[in-house]
Amino acid sequence: MNSASKHVCVIGAGPSGLVTARELRKEGHNVVVLEQKHDVGGQWLYDPNVEDEDPLGKGLFLKVHSSVYASLRTASPREIMGFTDFPFIVKKEEEGGGDSRRYPSHTEVLAYLRDFCEWFGLRVLIRFNTRVEYVGMLNYNDGSGGGCGDGFENLKWIVRSVLEEKKFDDDRRVVGLPASSEEVFDAVVVASGHYAQPRLPDIKGMDEWKRKQMHSHIYRIPQPFKNEVVVVVGNSQSGQDISMELSKVAKEVYLSAKDPSNVTEGLSKVLAKSNNLHLHPMLIGFPFFESQAKWIAQLLAGKNHLPSVEQMMRSIQELYELRDSSHIPKHHTHLVCFEVMIVKNIIPLQNG
Ligand SMILES: Cc1cc2nc3c(=O)[nH]c(=O)nc-3n(C[C@H](O)[C@H](O)[C@H](O)COP(=O)(O)OP(=O)(O)OC[C@H]3O[C@@H](n4cnc5c(N)ncnc54)[C@H](O)[C@@H]3O)c2cc1C
Repeated sequence: MNSASKHVCVIGAGPSGLVTARELRKEGHNVVVLEQKHDVGGQWLYDPNVEDEDPLGKGLFLKVHSSVYASLRTASPREIMGFTDFPFIVKKEEEGGGDSRRYPSHTEVLAYLRDFCEWFGLRVLIRFNTRVEYVGMLNYNDGSGGGCGDGFENLKWIVRSVLEEKKFDDDRRVVGLPASSEEVFDAVVVASGHYAQPRLPDIKGMDEWKRKQMHSHIYRIPQPFKNEVVVVVGNSQSGQDISMELSKVAKEVYLSAKDPSNVTEGLSKVLAKSNNLHLHPMLIGFPFFESQAKWIAQLLAGKNHLPSVEQMMRSIQELYELRDSSHIPKHHTHLVCFEVMIVKNIIPLQNG
């Protein structure tokens, strides 16, 4: 291990965590990936077992991570989804075949991520069924290097995790508490994803409504809505997809749209054809995660440098001011397309 080599913890073995692990190892770092689920894939690890989850996903810790529903196909074409040196190509029959469509199903993405993991030998770095519960600076308050001074290089981080593997007694009842452990790292990369926690709208009367209500995070198949009258709130990608498949089994479907201009030409055609349904591709793929991963790995290897704390704080402040003055909601601050949104919002404002 060279002198710039760091002991790095990556939280999550979804697409971002996997490519980060690969880049870190390429730069000579010692990597440990902690993943709460039994396999890699993150959002693409489809989980049909949603019965025990709160339908609105209000709990602090949800058992279900993936929001992927059974019929989901990618919103981005294969060509832009794959990592730069491991293209997301159609597999030959002799290699196992699969879904050859340009916008394939979620199972094809999971197969691709598993292949990526095998090809680069990443599984040995991953501790599965291990959920991180706490991350904090070591010796934060004792003046020995913790804290946000200029001594970033000396920072160490404590990561506390629990092994989620269940132990059973002879009657197959769960016994004992999950084993918890703490480990110290030079750096921690958080790649835990940001779609697993439902964001609920603030709708008057929602708490009093006693009939079926669920967030799309828990939605899997349309059958439970057979012959029902359903309102789908939100007409972005999931809202549109789910409305379309519900319209095949439900009695009536109402798609509630804050911004009707979001109804694409394709959806309008479907709406026109479906007499019970009243009422854009995603262009950021895995290469974006890969470029972030390369930057982090090189930073930790001393090949890149962070700006000073003052410069970073000033830049954050400027970003917040720009966000507020262009009326972008706070919850969009970390969206990758944030700058595009600012431009889109500023131009109409400037034109009055
Ligand atoms: C419905 C839907 C459709 C989408 N469609 C597309 C698409 O077509 N194209 C596209 O490019 N993107 C799409 N996305 C975006 C998708 O989130 C990304 O493709 C990608 O999965 C993000 O990868 P990630 O590794 O950052 O996060 P995730 O995929 O969410 O992975 C995070 C990982 O971290 C683990 N984790 C979380 N917390 C902890 C913890 N405390 N301890 C240990 N492990 C933890 C999780 O179990 C998970 O494995 C879609 C997302 C959704 C929800």
